[in-house]
Amino acid sequence: MEKIIDIEEQIIELTNFYKKLKYKKIQRAIYIIYGELEFKTVSPEVVRGKYNVEIQVTKRFPSEVPSVKEVGGIIPEDFHKNDSETLCLGVETEIKLFLRNTPNLLKFVNSFVVPYFYSFKIWQKTGNFPFGERPHFVNGIIEFYKEFLLLNNLSSIINILKYIYNKGDLNGYCRCPCGSGKNINECFHQEKLKELSKINIKDDLYYIYWYYNKINGKRKKPIIFPLTLENFEKLYGNKNK
Ligand SMILES: [Zn+2]
Ligand SMILES: [Zn+2]
Repeated sequence: MEKIIDIEEQIIELTNFYKKLKYKKIQRAIYIIYGELEFKTVSPEVVRGKYNVEIQVTKRFPSEVPSVKEVGGIIPEDFHKNDSETLCLGVETEIKLFLRNTPNLLKFVNSFVVPYFYSFKIWQKTGNFPFGERPHFVNGIIEFYKEFLLLNNLSSIINILKYIYNKGDLNGYCRCPCGSGKNINECFHQEKLKELSKINIKDDLYYIYWYYNKINGKRKKPIIFPLTLENFEKLYGNKNK
């Protein structure tokens, strides 16, 4: 059973912790949390920071990842930002997996937003990223899956994502799609596959497959944007067939 999240309760918990944050409801299901996010980290280094933020969170949290903007003009445009000026807090799938296990707004802010600003401060001072840095777009997604699945091979990663997209059996005695030759219940991927099956990996599969075809010189299939289910199925077939 999915736990019901009371988003207002979570926002109140967040604004009680970060006292200079306020919130307002802008539509029936959309909230904006705004004001100063003032923090002090103790590890790995003592860093104090104050940033004006605008966090948009919807009632679909945690399935929908909150978007965060820095509105004080401190974070430069070429630092990790998405097209829409929101902060690039990491690979979306990685954040979604975190939120599946930890569906809490305050912990989201403490685990992604504060470390983002912390990294920015350290980067300003030293030119280094204290927690490493993921590349943008498809390369970041691939890097994440390589680490998460402990696989180096793109086609194995694609096979795993296809298996999940097609809702393959995760408990039975089928071979693990990683190519190890082991059954799923004997391969260390079983738990990873179960975790991934709880979130929507369709976009990741699409992008990685597109990239794979590109680097292998197979451009037979056109890329159709926007990425809709309909377009995806035109390319890769219907999962029910
Ligand atoms: Zn980024
Ligand atoms: Zn495996």
